[in-house]
Amino acid sequence: MGAILPDFIVQRAEGYYCRYGDFFIDPILPVHRAVITHAHADHASRGQHTVYATAPTVAFMRFRYRGEAGHAFVETPYHQQFSLGGVVLRFIPAGHMLGSAQIVMAYGETTYLFTGDYKLQHDDTCEPLETLRADVLITESTFADPKVSHPDPVAEISKINGIPHHVLIGTYALGKAQRLTSLLNRICPDRRVFVHHGILPFHRLYTAMGVSHLRYEPYNRRALKNSLNHHVYLVPPMAFNSYYRATPFVRVFASGWEHLQRNNDLSLYISDHVDWNDILDYVGRVSPREIWTVHGDGRHLASFFAGVIPVRRILDQQQVIP
Ligand SMILES: [Zn+2]
Repeated sequence: MGAILPDFIVQRAEGYYCRYGDFFIDPILPVHRAVITHAHADHASRGQHTVYATAPTVAFMRFRYRGEAGHAFVETPYHQQFSLGGVVLRFIPAGHMLGSAQIVMAYGETTYLFTGDYKLQHDDTCEPLETLRADVLITESTFADPKVSHPDPVAEISKINGIPHHVLIGTYALGKAQRLTSLLNRICPDRRVFVHHGILPFHRLYTAMGVSHLRYEPYNRRALKNSLNHHVYLVPPMAFNSYYRATPFVRVFASGWEHLQRNNDLSLYISDHVDWNDILDYVGRVSPREIWTVHGDGRHLASFFAGVIPVRRILDQQQVIP
């Protein structure tokens, strides 16, 4: 059983840093070596020198940042090992969006698993989550609160069938919008899915990368206006917020966050993150000796596992003796 290095990954201004391999994970500022879990903008930022990521993540970054995405890209398939410094890394699927990865890092006899954003719920628009045993589980804790329980997404999306109007759904453009399209196709097959121009390129990239079952159409005001049937229009958050109540849509926003459900006509709790029970389930699968948390609040996890598994926030650089 290898020793756990408390400073294996630390928080720096640029992002999470591993000095044993001299690389950053999901840096928010430009760095020389960036290992990137997935393409959401708060994890994949522009201006990196060398990027290690899955092919879909690289494709989304190149689309979003054009020539500013980075200098060099090392497209790395799931399960393929690569070494940085003394650390042997590999990606495994995180189930969060297309191309999303957890990072498995082996150093000496010790294995560290950095989840990035992940989910256990079924999603047929991305690779299903994979799990392995690790000594240290470094988990996101966005919804690590016993009060948070995400409902069944199929039951949530079924609500749309009961609405006798067109439905405007606010959604993040990348990942969530494609998952919603697939759910709507399956659960609400009578509804045509119209897609805002700000979301369309991501649908097309998904299709180009093998998610070929999505049925959708570019937004067409006339088709919606003249239709006797009721349909769905997916729009990104900015467009959603600029629609006024006077427009003939029932308004919903797809999210795990309670505060994003307020002021809408109906709630639609669809999240691409783990909830409280999912995290507990996941800890059981990984069976770690320690849990470190990133994003959000690890307090509830620390009290739940008190006396069983040490839980703490990832260390800040300032807390580490140089
Ligand atoms: Zn994400």
